[in-house]
Amino acid sequence: MQDFSIVEISKALAKKEFSSVELTQHYLDRINTHDSQLNSFITVTDELALEQAKAADERIRKGESGVLLGVPYAHKDIFCTSGVKTSCGSRMLDNFTAPYNANVTDLLNQAGAVMLGKTNMDEFAMGSSNETSFYGSVKNPWDTAYVPGGSSGGSASAVAARLAPIATGTDTGGSIRQPAALCGITGIKPSYGRVSRYGMIAFASSLDQGGSFARSSEDAAQLLQAIAGFDLRDSTSIDRPVPNFSADLDKPLKGLKIGLPKEYFAEGLDAEVEKVVQTAIKEYENLGAKVIEISLPNSKLSVPVYYVVAPAECSSNLSRYDGVRYGHRCKDPVNLDDLYFRSRGEGFGKEVKRRIMIGTYALSAGYYDAYYLKAQQIRRLISDDFTQAFKEVDVIMSPTSPSAAFKIGEKSDDPVTMYLSDIYTIAVNLAGLPGMSIPAGFVNSLPVGLQIIGSYWGEAQLLNVAHQFQQATDWHKQKPKGY
Ligand code: GLN
Repeated sequence: MQDFSIVEISKALAKKEFSSVELTQHYLDRINTHDSQLNSFITVTDELALEQAKAADERIRKGESGVLLGVPYAHKDIFCTSGVKTSCGSRMLDNFTAPYNANVTDLLNQAGAVMLGKTNMDEFAMGSSNETSFYGSVKNPWDTAYVPGGSSGGSASAVAARLAPIATGTDTGGSIRQPAALCGITGIKPSYGRVSRYGMIAFASSLDQGGSFARSSEDAAQLLQAIAGFDLRDSTSIDRPVPNFSADLDKPLKGLKIGLPKEYFAEGLDAEVEKVVQTAIKEYENLGAKVIEISLPNSKLSVPVYYVVAPAECSSNLSRYDGVRYGHRCKDPVNLDDLYFRSRGEGFGKEVKRRIMIGTYALSAGYYDAYYLKAQQIRRLISDDFTQAFKEVDVIMSPTSPSAAFKIGEKSDDPVTMYLSDIYTIAVNLAGLPGMSIPAGFVNSLPVGLQIIGSYWGEAQLLNVAHQFQQATDWHKQKPKGY
């Protein structure tokens, strides 16, 4: 059952080949068997899942249909879920049960999807390896000595290990695409504004965007369809119609113009990863696409710009955790300062503190112009590079990550090396563009991802480009041993 796509699942549910309760129980059993090795869930919501499955079966019995009706999913623990703990991977929110649902949660409830639990993640989504979680690191199912990527590593690991057919994620600088690549699955981050951020715990508000994980582009499209759309409660949500993301899946790629940014195939890229990516691009040529070398001249500035903008926004967003209203509060504070210092000192982990300090510094009166303002100006140049490129090409392709998964502990003491794991994904967030990662092959038995970047609102095209590759190859069908 765990190898069924959600399209197959929904057909089987409609034909009553099995019920949503049976399917949900099957996944809960798998989580029970495997998750002690992977640590991909922070909370497993068995009872609620079975209740939701029962309700879905009832809706199916009454003749209702819907691709996600009765389909189990794993939910990143950054999305608020009323009545269920939402920790954001932090000790700060270890005691937090949201009083309301994120818009994404509401939409999935309406679709009748069944939440299996909340997935592990880097603390407040800051990380590329899932080692910064208060709940311990997540393991990569391809080899448990390796990281699954981050920050949505729990979601990616769960989907790769068939503990859930689909999962939600968020991507501020690569957190959907990079773990999708490292775990050998498909992930899509839509254009900024496509998915409501209401009830999605904020890290860097101008970059954060929700999206989907699945094993195939076809399934990722279905999940994205359910969670996309305008929401009045998010002022950056875009009021424009959501197209049918699956409508173009079968469109042939003949004549498609693919841009390869020369800056993304340069120093720092693992030679074996490059080979895999080049082979995938050859496959696209076989499918009728045309490859054009392009330049994104400001690429090397994206990591430094991101590490000013994201910490600046994080320092502002995380000021709300003051030990007063909700979240962790220290024991017996002697005065207000003591309450702030100790609550924040105890509640936040090392990486989060580092970012708050960098951000506060960059925003301080004496340095604002030199850092934050300058970073915003360069951000504009980075975004203009893409606008220029999309005058010539339809999509841009690159490796998702400069290497395959690295060992747990390998980079955790070296933040700069860790930050460089997002070198190919970050510019996409700075520009607000849609991006995707699909499995393209292996290096030393570890998966490698191909990144596909689209122009604004081009999600349907990305999904089409990914789907055509998945019709011609079976990298996305490979699965880790033992799952
Ligand atoms: N790895 C990047 C960071 O640590 C991106 C994280 C994300 O996309 N949430 O900021």
